[in-house]
Amino acid sequence: MSDQPPFYETKRLHEMTSHEWESLCDGCGKCCVVLLQDEGDDTVYRTNVGCRLLDLKTVRCSDYENRHARVPSCVRLSADNIGELTWMPDTCAYRLLHEGKPLPAWHPLKTGDPGSVERAGISVKGGLVSETEVADEDLEDHIVEG
Ligand code: SF4
Repeated sequence: MSDQPPFYETKRLHEMTSHEWESLCDGCGKCCVVLLQDEGDDTVYRTNVGCRLLDLKTVRCSDYENRHARVPSCVRLSADNIGELTWMPDTCAYRLLHEGKPLPAWHPLKTGDPGSVERAGISVKGGLVSETEVADEDLEDHIVEG
């Protein structure tokens, strides 16, 4: 074991390598579902409707490399814009580190086990439907808590 503190405790987001950056994503899938915004007060609601590229079994993107070409509305998350993406879940490592907070104990970078996200109840795995199966006018019926 190294005595060095891990990169996520010493580096700022914009200093990380692409590998380090990618490893921060815990795979919860919360940013890969349809979000609805209240036009009145701008409140953002999460649904149980997965992006059409989301693999509902793994809650991972089925075409990560080409996601922006295939889904133009897919946000390009970066160290520059994470502060503006207020709808990102408060469990998301990018948001936590941007806010100067530590990674939670269940994060795979701490547990060494991607399954710790699901066990902690953070993953959206289970109970999702694909947006290919839900009509736009029915999306409101799919709003979920948290
Ligand atoms: S919300 Fe954050 S941790 Fe969860 S899938 Fe999206 S980028 Fe990854």
